[in-house]
Amino acid sequence: MEELIKCCKEQGLRITKGLKAIMNALDEAKLPLSLQELEVNPQIAEICDRATVFRTLQRLEGIGLLRRLNFSHSGAKFSLNTGDAHKEYLICRLCGEVKELKMSCPVHQLEEKLSEENGYSAMTHELTFYGLCRKCN
Ligand SMILES: [Zn+2]
Ligand SMILES: [Zn+2]
Repeated sequence: MEELIKCCKEQGLRITKGLKAIMNALDEAKLPLSLQELEVNPQIAEICDRATVFRTLQRLEGIGLLRRLNFSHSGAKFSLNTGDAHKEYLICRLCGEVKELKMSCPVHQLEEKLSEENGYSAMTHELTFYGLCRKCN
């Protein structure tokens, strides 16, 4: 979490209570959260209105700290996308069930290789698998 705050500062984001509350909620959540879910989180609702939550999410996405997962029927959901906080997901294309992959990230080596070969730093990546769950099969 401190690492994340540091990252935001480095990217020129103002560290507000709202920003912290939103990152906390995303950090604690097992699964990606929608704008609506963030909005009604008591810790966030206390300090942020919907527009603020939305703007904060946009800013986090802008600096690559936030990942947007798009679901055909339920809209976008968000999760943190950095270092240890980043997760990989398995999503059912039909019912939208989301599962977090219970394995260590399979592409870190590839990421390092790409970073070296291309001179890129502060790498992040997104990996989402789609399919049909047992129920929908
Ligand atoms: Zn399903
Ligand atoms: Zn990964």
